[in-house]
Amino acid sequence: MDPVSKRLPPIESGQPVGSHTKCVSCDYDLHGLPMDGTCPECGTEIAQTLHGGMLWYSPLSFLRALRLGALLVVVSNILILIGSVGTPIAIFTLMTLAPAPSPQPHQPPSPWASPIDPQIEAIFMLAVFLVLTLPATIMLTAGWWKLTGTEPSRAAGPDRTASLKTAIRVLVAVILGLSAVTFGLIIAKVFVHNVVLSVSEMAVGMTSGLVSIALFFVSLVFLRRMARRIPDQTLHYRAGQYLWLLPVIYILGMCVLVGPLVATVMYLILIGQFRSAVGEILSMREAAGEVEDSPLFGPQPT
Ligand SMILES: [Zn+2]
Repeated sequence: MDPVSKRLPPIESGQPVGSHTKCVSCDYDLHGLPMDGTCPECGTEIAQTLHGGMLWYSPLSFLRALRLGALLVVVSNILILIGSVGTPIAIFTLMTLAPAPSPQPHQPPSPWASPIDPQIEAIFMLAVFLVLTLPATIMLTAGWWKLTGTEPSRAAGPDRTASLKTAIRVLVAVILGLSAVTFGLIIAKVFVHNVVLSVSEMAVGMTSGLVSIALFFVSLVFLRRMARRIPDQTLHYRAGQYLWLLPVIYILGMCVLVGPLVATVMYLILIGQFRSAVGEILSMREAAGEVEDSPLFGPQPT
C-alpha cells in the first residue's frame, strides 16, 4: 500500500456501499454496489465518490497549481522577510557612511527627520522597493491566486472553502493595491521631502501590516481545511494550533527581537509541508503513468 492510500478511508474489496451515496459524476445511487467497483451508469470508480473530497482524485493540473502556489507564497515571504530585516540594516550602514546633511536653518528640526540625506534615503528605498518588495508582492499575489483557484472537477463536491478563497484573494489584492500606493509615495519622496508623505507612507505600511495579519489567520484556516483533503491529520492539527501559537510566539518573542522571525519561519515551514504533501500525491500519480487530466476531470459532457 502506498503512503497516500494508507491515509485514505479503506475501500474494502467487495463490500457494498452502505448508504445512499450519489455518484460524483452522474448522481446515480450507488447503494449496495461494491466499493471497489465502478458506477454502472457512467463508469466512474466508486472509490472516487467515497473519497470525493480527497486531493488524490483531483485533476493533476489543480494539484500542480497548488504546488506552484505554495512555492510562490514561501519564496515571496522569504523575500519580504529579507527586505524587512535587511532594509533597516542597510539604512544604518548608509547612515554611518553618508555625510551628515547640511543644516537647514529656516526649517525647525522635524521629529521625522532622518539623519541621512532624505533624497539619498528615498532613492535607496525606491531601489529596494523595485528590486525586492514589488516583485515579492506580485509573487505573493500570484501564489495565493494559484492556491485558491477553482477546481475543474465535480469530484470534490461543493467547495466548502469558497468563502475562504474569496477572502484570501481580496486580502492579497488589497496588499498589492497598497503596495502600488507605497510606490507612488516613495517616488514622490525622491522629489519632495515632507512630513505628510512620511506619515502617509507609515499609515499605508500599518494598514498593509493589518491586512497581512488577517491574511495569516484566513490562510491558516484554509490550509487546515486543505490538510483534511490530503489527508494529513498532523498538518490539519498543526494549522489549527498555529492560529494561536504563532501570534503568541510573535508577540512574546518581540522582546528578544526574534519572535516575528521564528513565527514567520514556522508559518512558511507549514506551507512548505503542504506543498510537499501535494507534491507527494502528484509524483505518485505521475509515477503511475498519469500524464494529463483524465477526461473524467474535464468539462462534463452535456
Ligand atoms: Zn456515475
